[in-house]
Amino acid sequence: SAHSLVKHFNAGGFGAARKVVRAVDDVSFELAPGETLGVVGESGCGKSTTARLLVQLLKPDSGSVRYEGKVVGPELPLKAFRSKVQMVFQDSFASLNPRMTMIDAVAFGPTVHGVSQSDAIRKAQDLLDRVGLDPARFGGRYAHELSGGQRQRVNIARALAFDPQVIVLDEAVSALDKSVEAQVLNLLMDLRRERGLTYVFISHDLNVVRHISDRVMVMYLGEVAEIGPAESLYGAPCHPYTEALLAAMPSLDPDQRTMEAPLAGDPPNPIDPPSGCRFHTRCARAFGPCSTQIPPSYTVGRSHVAACHLNSVKEHVA
Ligand code: SF4
Ligand code: MG
Repeated sequence: SAHSLVKHFNAGGFGAARKVVRAVDDVSFELAPGETLGVVGESGCGKSTTARLLVQLLKPDSGSVRYEGKVVGPELPLKAFRSKVQMVFQDSFASLNPRMTMIDAVAFGPTVHGVSQSDAIRKAQDLLDRVGLDPARFGGRYAHELSGGQRQRVNIARALAFDPQVIVLDEAVSALDKSVEAQVLNLLMDLRRERGLTYVFISHDLNVVRHISDRVMVMYLGEVAEIGPAESLYGAPCHPYTEALLAAMPSLDPDQRTMEAPLAGDPPNPIDPPSGCRFHTRCARAFGPCSTQIPPSYTVGRSHVAACHLNSVKEHVA
């Protein structure tokens, strides 16, 4: 679970002129074993920063990550945590050492954890085979000799080599062609079932997120706007930003595509986010308190929470 994670980046300047990018502000969530949490939002909303904080590639300014109740760092050594929580990135090429064969890339993790070279190679062969790459054909190849989809399969095998419980997938299928993307998604869903894996699935593609996620977290300018079960969040969103994202979703049925973009313009600058509700400058339903008061998180359903003032009205009506 993540507790009140905060990460600000320095964007230059000194003293009173110091500029700070509020990349992630007070983000908290829990992961249940075996579930998939989708994370959506426009680029720059803090999805990737949250992912990097979660896997401890970045140190939060404040807040903590707990694994099985233990605070990572003081209570659970980083090395033990790292083998349990792996990450797969969007750029399949940058993630692989260009001078390593694919078999060595996958075998590397186990050897770091004390597995003998021959056992690690055997494990890597099995994993390559499991992700759909014949080890005899692909094991000796280098990253540049593979397609993007094949490289991403290797990156998945490499993550699996640590026997993780959790895999954080940051736009892991976004760079792939649609048909390859569907194949890799199916592989991820099969692996999840076989191994009881927990995923954090970050994507700008709401159709894909709906397909794979049990719960979904919507982020806006470094904050959680809404989080809840995929079914209720897609079916009955309780935050105008979620509604706008859903309305902007390309429909699978071309006849139902709306011509108008309901979400106009870009998000405001995270160096100086709007007061009150950060979404108020783009929200069609903003009213009285929105520009001055930060909306609290309202429980709007079973494990469904939304940070929007409109829900206070709903609560009083109900
Ligand atoms: Fe819109 Fe106000 Fe809700 Fe923010 S709090 S999303 S501005 S209605
Ligand atoms: Mg990103």
